[in-house]
Amino acid sequence: MESQIKALEKQARALEPSTGDRASLLKKAQQYGNNFLDELPQKPAYVTSERMGKGVYDLPFNDGPKDFDEILQVLESEVDRPGLNPASGKHAGYIPGGGLYPSAVADYLAAVTNRYTGVFFSSPGAVRIENMCIRWMCDLVGYPEKAAGNLTSGGSIANLIGLVTARDHADIKARDFHKAVIYTTHQVHHCVIKAIKFAGLQEAQIREIPMDRGYRMKAEELKKQIHSDKSAGLIPLVIFASAGTTDLGAVDPLDRIADLAKEHKLWFHVDAAYGGFFLLTDHGKQIMEGIDRADSVTIDPHKGLFLPYGTGAVLVKDGQRLYESQHMTANYLQDALKATEEASPADLSPELSKHFRGLRMWLPLQLFGVQPFRAALEEKLLLTRYFFQKIQQIDRIEVGPKPKLSVMAFRYVPENDDPDIFNKKLVDEIHRDGRIFLSSTNIDGAFYLRLAVLNFRTHLEEIDLILSILREKIHKLTGVASN
Ligand SMILES: *Cc1c(COP(=O)(O)O)cnc(C)c1O
Repeated sequence: MESQIKALEKQARALEPSTGDRASLLKKAQQYGNNFLDELPQKPAYVTSERMGKGVYDLPFNDGPKDFDEILQVLESEVDRPGLNPASGKHAGYIPGGGLYPSAVADYLAAVTNRYTGVFFSSPGAVRIENMCIRWMCDLVGYPEKAAGNLTSGGSIANLIGLVTARDHADIKARDFHKAVIYTTHQVHHCVIKAIKFAGLQEAQIREIPMDRGYRMKAEELKKQIHSDKSAGLIPLVIFASAGTTDLGAVDPLDRIADLAKEHKLWFHVDAAYGGFFLLTDHGKQIMEGIDRADSVTIDPHKGLFLPYGTGAVLVKDGQRLYESQHMTANYLQDALKATEEASPADLSPELSKHFRGLRMWLPLQLFGVQPFRAALEEKLLLTRYFFQKIQQIDRIEVGPKPKLSVMAFRYVPENDDPDIFNKKLVDEIHRDGRIFLSSTNIDGAFYLRLAVLNFRTHLEEIDLILSILREKIHKLTGVASN
């Protein structure tokens, strides 16, 4: 048996590269990353290709090793070329993400050390780092000391945790789920509807409260609806408001909604996945007034804090409620009970073993300080207003509501053609061209293009390029040069 073990050990040791091999791997990876970033300004924001990355299948897994150079080549041509390039400052579609370099370094360190961040007992320092990030976001929102939260994979899971916490706190039985009422608007992110399903609440009544002309929930209508639901014997459960809708960046009247939530004892959740970090700016603080009165908040560091994908957060004003909803014990975790000085992420979310997400947020905040983030967010707000003014100088351009944050919609209304058909062609042209990326949406049944400024690499030069490409494409499609 010993000789067999030894023979296996010899093969298994291939999993641990030598110091020299590690250095070589890292050097090549670093070179790859540097090339990627150095070439980024010249690269398109979107690439359509025939093969759409099919070449990754040319490298099937097999028993033997492969050459790293060959692997990197496939990564370059099949993964990092086709499709959207979210790292590009010329990406202004959907809600752009980020990809701060120090976060990549943090991810590298987190993976090498592989600290176990599910429970405080296992990695007290790492859990403190995560809790420090949570605490910082709680301060941003204006939450008290007793607040708690969790770094999630993104806003979708954060919204789910918020909803489940609300459901558990209401102590409502499954047999009454069909009587539960969830209040939101038509503009709420679709992941909230998914969360309702995952929370087992698909039989609940979902009320889409009418909105004003700025696509904000009308508090008066909400009030009426709650009253009528109560008199019909239903159980008002939770209000899901938005602080920065994905389509238009609209912020619901949080303060007035908070009054109603308090009066009727409803759970009040604010989805600030996109808009939340604008709280670092004076303008953001002003339009999100009342967010501190919400029972729970979703905020996505991989959006407004420019982190790479995979980091959202849920914050709950009364941390005990989050704990009561999410914690569970097990025999094999009994050692963890010895160290309870700090909350453990596993007690505040459905996850146990998880990525050390805190490090990729903590490191850039430490290295850069907070001010560059605040400046970047203020810059994004102004760039969007700048675009809003400039785009209207093009003849026959129609804009949606004045941008409240950094998202806005617009369309070209041709003299004779159907505007929906024309704007679909316009967005197709832009995608085929690829130098910039914009996405589209549907507002009140009409097809609109959207501009979303949130990549930290988007500056005046990129916005001017977007404007000039729009002029160029409109000219191409209409044959009329815009002024
Ligand atoms: C992006 C977004 C979400 C979903 O968050 P993910 O991080 O993509 O899971 C939820 N709500 C709003 C308002 C968003 O913009």
